[in-house]
Amino acid sequence: MFKVEDIRKDFPILSRKVNDKPLVYFDNAATSQTPKQVIDTIVDYYSNYNANIHRGVHTLSQEATDLYEQARHKIQAHFNAKFSHEIIFTSGTTHSINLVANGFSSILKKEDEIIVSALEHHSNIVPWQMLCERTGATLKVIPMNQEGELVISEFDKILSEKTKLVFVNHVSNALGTINPIEYLIEKTHQFGAAILIDGAQSCPHIKPDLQALNVDFYVTSAHKICGPTGVGMLYGKEEWLKKLPPYQGGGEMIAEVTFEKTTYADLPHKFEAGTPNICGGIAFGAAIDYMNAIGFNTIASYENDLLEYATNELLKIDGLKIYGTSKHKTAVISFNLENIHPYDVGSILDKLGIAVRTGHHCAQPIMDYYKIPGTVRASFSFYNTKAEIDTLVNGVKKAKMMLS
Ligand SMILES: *Cc1c(COP(=O)(O)O)cnc(C)c1O
Repeated sequence: MFKVEDIRKDFPILSRKVNDKPLVYFDNAATSQTPKQVIDTIVDYYSNYNANIHRGVHTLSQEATDLYEQARHKIQAHFNAKFSHEIIFTSGTTHSINLVANGFSSILKKEDEIIVSALEHHSNIVPWQMLCERTGATLKVIPMNQEGELVISEFDKILSEKTKLVFVNHVSNALGTINPIEYLIEKTHQFGAAILIDGAQSCPHIKPDLQALNVDFYVTSAHKICGPTGVGMLYGKEEWLKKLPPYQGGGEMIAEVTFEKTTYADLPHKFEAGTPNICGGIAFGAAIDYMNAIGFNTIASYENDLLEYATNELLKIDGLKIYGTSKHKTAVISFNLENIHPYDVGSILDKLGIAVRTGHHCAQPIMDYYKIPGTVRASFSFYNTKAEIDTLVNGVKKAKMMLS
């Protein structure tokens, strides 16, 4: 049975105060909090196993290597990848995307096209723009509508034989919209193109089955799913990862080095140059264990409850407008108060101990579409409560009174 009060005991930070008020943490879409099971893993690693991996014959190095590779297997099992060498450890989503974009530099030609969606995080826009500059390929955009959904009929129109790659996030970090990735993947494949799904915002709520989805690339960051910052993953189908050239040169990614020629190591090491975030990778595995012990269905149904409650309560406030009203969304509410700048609302909420995000949420094209400077974004997690939402609603009312 899911008892939120028990869950909250796993998160030491949730009992701290901010500005003399109990912390209400509603910035989960930016980064999630860390349970003690993950913190303990980090302490345990540095207390007992710290060593460089894949190199030494000594015991510590072998133990650290085993833990790191076990984490890779946990991640493989969780996302249901076919092979563990299809899981590449990276520093996070941004790094993963850049790795793929860089790899396609040598594949794309001038007449090729790539497609992104209007709902992307900047980290899923800028690397592709840079790729287009390097290769001369053309970037096309799937437009969005007022509800904050992708206009799929437009996707069908811009997709063609020229399309080589499609990039879409599973869930928009700014609005919470869940995109119909099954359809997008199938349709993309009909045209022989590859598709990358950015799972950074969906993986805390939805457990994907990468083989069933038949997706070519999937990327995410550990810190969005109760793990540490500075570590994440790239999943790529074996055939694609074999085709892409390495991203960075260095130790650990080579088979043989002479000054005439270097041959690259097998997957996954080809893409893992240098000493990785060993502890981070192991803690990423611990975070996945933690989330699975609660269960993703339990998490999703609890969070949907919070979303419905918060949406209803916030909409009772006169002049409050919610951006992103799709029926398919995760527990994210982006909103503004009429004639009040989101930053001012955020500052007042902070004084009340409430952490929300204000601004463009690294998704400026969405803000341009709505013709607003930004929004206040409250994003919920399974460790939040309805009582905290009441605190938010009262805080927003207070902000409205003070600012209008
Ligand atoms: C957070 C986020 C990113 C960026 O992740 P980093 O860990 O900063 O690299 C990319 N895409 C989406 C949808 C996100 O939510």
